[in-house]
Amino acid sequence: MFMPALQTVLKLVYPSRCLICGGLVETDFGLCGPCWRDTPFISGLVCDCCGVPLIGDSEDAEFCDDCLTTPPAWSQGRAGLVYKDNGRKLVLMLKHGDRHDIALPAAVWMARQIRPLLRENMVAVPIPLHFRRHFKRRYNQSALLSRALSRELGIDHAPDALERLRHTASLEGKTREQRYTTLSDVLRVRPSRVAAIAGRPVLIVDDVLTSGATLCAATEACLAAGASEVCVSVLARVAKEA
Ligand SMILES: [Zn+2]
Ligand SMILES: [Zn+2]
Repeated sequence: MFMPALQTVLKLVYPSRCLICGGLVETDFGLCGPCWRDTPFISGLVCDCCGVPLIGDSEDAEFCDDCLTTPPAWSQGRAGLVYKDNGRKLVLMLKHGDRHDIALPAAVWMARQIRPLLRENMVAVPIPLHFRRHFKRRYNQSALLSRALSRELGIDHAPDALERLRHTASLEGKTREQRYTTLSDVLRVRPSRVAAIAGRPVLIVDDVLTSGATLCAATEACLAAGASEVCVSVLARVAKEA
């Protein structure tokens, strides 16, 4: 009789489960068929700046109305999922549900979109939580994503490069203008980490892109610290219903 490989034994003891519904799946880190179908993966033409899906196809860089009206501070950005249905569910599970296991597959989905935009010598930097919120939640979901994404892409990771100077109240329900005012001067590159950023292209990583106010503040902080350029990668992009 052959001894089954360790992996096979582990598989029998701990079979792979769908990330969302917990049903059995064939591959690791997978989603079952029905959950996969309800997950709004982004593909095809997207806004070159914020990664929101656009209608049509084009060889040239295209931009959504929001980015045309108010161009973000970063140069290019991509998202893995639209923030709705299972896209929203996965973000909330990662953020509030202690589901660290989501970071790995999420990084694969994010990498698919962002890989063509990689710059030489790029360094991944997560959006930080304020230490008070970090203490309460015990982990920073953006740092889990940026760690997994930097490994997937084979780029450097500077998890503590950015810091939040003040605690900000939740941005939920605030207007775009209120978000920008709340966030200006809240983020900065830690003086001790400027050397990790200066002269290099930075990839800022976050879980959700809503108005882009947080990512703009982070971009400005990185540019102020001497970053040569900033791109952004998020797990999910909030998109207005067409
Ligand atoms: Zn499922
Ligand atoms: Zn856009």
